[in-house]
Amino acid sequence: MTDPSLEALLILQEADLRRKGMEQRLQLLPKEMDAIIARRDKLNAATAAAADAVKKEELAIKSSEAEIARLTADSQKLQQQSALVKKNNEYQAMLAQIADNKRKIGEIEEELILKLDLVAELKEKAEKIKRSNALELRNARTEFEELLAFSKTVKAEIDQALKDRPVLAANVRDELLTTYNRLLKGKDNTPPLTELDNGCCGNCHMRVTLQTANELSKGKIEHCDNCQHLLYAKTE
Ligand SMILES: [Zn+2]
Repeated sequence: MTDPSLEALLILQEADLRRKGMEQRLQLLPKEMDAIIARRDKLNAATAAAADAVKKEELAIKSSEAEIARLTADSQKLQQQSALVKKNNEYQAMLAQIADNKRKIGEIEEELILKLDLVAELKEKAEKIKRSNALELRNARTEFEELLAFSKTVKAEIDQALKDRPVLAANVRDELLTTYNRLLKGKDNTPPLTELDNGCCGNCHMRVTLQTANELSKGKIEHCDNCQHLLYAKTE
């Protein structure tokens, strides 16, 4: 006659393995969520860096424009002063200064054209990065929220499984339940109760003794002679 605890133990084990699977999944979630946060930070940093490059070039343009204005004002002042100067060498020095200012302005203006081209290029690039990163940020946020919701669901399911467990365990006789619980907590993370597979243990795959096979064929639950896991055999 089949062990009356067998069916109950199989039901309990199915629930326990499912719960253990959920617990393992739950343990992986913080790492996955941290990875999303790191991705978000990296995207934000890339967007900020592109915007900073634009700002830096705009400041350089402002400074060039200020320098042109300063040189222009200086030349205008020298022009006015030169009309009042009586000594020829002073007059020549002023003209030389004005010529030098003009040369400098020309140089700065040439650089300015390059800078304006560069800033336009950087702006376009920053805009592109911002758009593409915004899209990725939205995806990252969605993924994060999904994981968060998933973790809540899994936690609730684990809690419920733990609540339901005593009801399922009550149908298994005590000494069998003790053995089963010990095996369930074992480090090898395998199902404590396995079906005899062609005369071999479903866990360690070693052939069981004839005596064990004989007991199993009567519907009893036996220990594997090798790995001590619980065994049962299908009886018709
Ligand atoms: Zn075994």
